[in-house]
Amino acid sequence: MRVSEFLMPTLRETPAEAEVVSHQLMVRAGYIRKSAAGVYTLLPLAWRVIKKIEGIVREEMDREGGQEIMMPIIQPAELWQESGRWDVYGPELFRLKDRHGRDFCLGPTHEEIITDLVRGEVSSYKQLPLLLYQIQNKYRDERRPRFGLMRGREFIMKDLYSFDRDEESLDVSYWKMYRAYTRIFRRCGLKFRPVEADSGAIGGNDTHEFMVLAESGEALVVYCPNDSCGYAANVEKAVSPPERPVYETGARPLEEAATPEMRTVNQVASFLGISPKTLIKTLIYKTEKGPVAALVRGDRDVNEIKLIRAVGVINLELAPPEEVERITGCAPGFAGPVGLGGVKVVVDEEALMANAVSGSNKKNIHFVNVNAGRDFKPDLVTDIRLVKAGDPCPSCGIPLAEARGIEVGQVFKLGDKYSKVLGATFLDEKGQSRPIVMGCYGIGVTRTMAAAIEQNYDQNGIIWPSSIAPFQVVVIPVSAKDIRQDEMARRVCEKLLKAGVEVIIDDRNERPGVKFKDADLVGYPVRITVGSKAVDSGDLELRLRRDGNNIMIPEADLVNRVLEILSEDQEITDAG
Ligand code: ATP
Ligand code: MG
Repeated sequence: MRVSEFLMPTLRETPAEAEVVSHQLMVRAGYIRKSAAGVYTLLPLAWRVIKKIEGIVREEMDREGGQEIMMPIIQPAELWQESGRWDVYGPELFRLKDRHGRDFCLGPTHEEIITDLVRGEVSSYKQLPLLLYQIQNKYRDERRPRFGLMRGREFIMKDLYSFDRDEESLDVSYWKMYRAYTRIFRRCGLKFRPVEADSGAIGGNDTHEFMVLAESGEALVVYCPNDSCGYAANVEKAVSPPERPVYETGARPLEEAATPEMRTVNQVASFLGISPKTLIKTLIYKTEKGPVAALVRGDRDVNEIKLIRAVGVINLELAPPEEVERITGCAPGFAGPVGLGGVKVVVDEEALMANAVSGSNKKNIHFVNVNAGRDFKPDLVTDIRLVKAGDPCPSCGIPLAEARGIEVGQVFKLGDKYSKVLGATFLDEKGQSRPIVMGCYGIGVTRTMAAAIEQNYDQNGIIWPSSIAPFQVVVIPVSAKDIRQDEMARRVCEKLLKAGVEVIIDDRNERPGVKFKDADLVGYPVRITVGSKAVDSGDLELRLRRDGNNIMIPEADLVNRVLEILSEDQEITDAG
């Protein structure tokens, strides 16, 4: 392949709207162009990377017995009405009508379609287990499409669905996929961590997200730094043993304390000369089941996902100031549980302490010596706090660490959530009809490409892991007009191509500096320079993108050295 003929429009300027590195570099290096918010054309370089990632995904899915199919992107509304998701999926679902006015949607995921297929084709335990997958565009009208390929409205996903006879067999399918995902992301050269994740209001219990660790990640994960322990969880799901209060035991009489204009925990705590840990923070939420007061210790934050589960609601959001005022009878900043009527009071385990300080629902006044049971009645005491770095690991007790992550994949036990409502059943050995037990497993292919860049770049551009690079080697004749250099460059390319190396030659009539800059920007793992010295001496200059080292190699050894370098970079390819 020749750069002169290849559509690779590189830019010198960083596009203004690109906030994260992968987005900036993909636009600058000529990988993608935008059509609409969250909708992109993948240019030849990007498409080559995508095909590499898809190839790895396909190999590992097939290795575990996955069978590839292709389901329709356009899905009839009837199926979604049958599963009940037509109404609950909300504005993220792209909906459309055909010429007869019938409703359809563009598939954001394929549980409905595949369960419909399987209920028609599978009837006996003898046909299970079954693993079916596809690699296809998905459509989600995201509230905030952003970060280029990271959060698009149209994106490529691999989705596999497992069908088993019982939980035990589902467990086998689940861990097959877990292992396959581990191999896939390793082979893509990524530093990642599988973490326990929230499984949503209904549906299965076990689920893990695969997080690529990167500063730009939208997710926060906590993990145990002790590798032999290995606990890791999305912060939405993370748990940690409650800290035992060391303060008070016997209840003292309730008192009022003046706290003029002291609205925040820190203001109140320092004004009263107490630790934020002795304070109860009261947050008022609105839900479809009415208002909820969430009480956590002053130094803690509410984990809204845990709160949603605890209260059993679908929608939950902080009440706006006027609503807080209506509910508590007081301006925000002074809400407290004592005397609060018509509100469900949910108390975090740690906030259940003796002689606490809390808001009084009266302006500029806090209560001192608040005691649950005596001064207010909790409706529910449970874990609703957000775990943070430094909290003890729930499995070994040492302080947890924190990192940001990009969710590139998720494995999920669905159980009989879809098979029950859609009637996908099978007959067991005894001839009894039972719902099929399902799992679903997604990988964001386009997001994985973006995540790989977030982890592999420097100030000059992308540094591709060789397993997913668009080309493994670029050959640069210093002067394309010099016939001897041109000849030698072509010869080197031929040899590499014959050895199965993907190589591109930068035959443009440009200054060498321009070609070197573009090579760094595009991110080829290996660069080979052919200048007049190479022609005279027969030694070529080989430069590794990752460490920037130059090595001189005689032409006769070149192919073997390149193969060696690439296989070192891919040594984990056959892991597992
Ligand atoms: P997120 O929480 O980031 O919105 P999700 O949990 O809704 O993602 P899943 O339904 O688990 O996503 O989809 C499987 C995979 O598809 C995700 O792990 C992610 O890699 C990818 N993915 C999901 N939404 C997008 C998107 N808008 N753009 C690109 N990739 C996406
Ligand atoms: Mg997910």
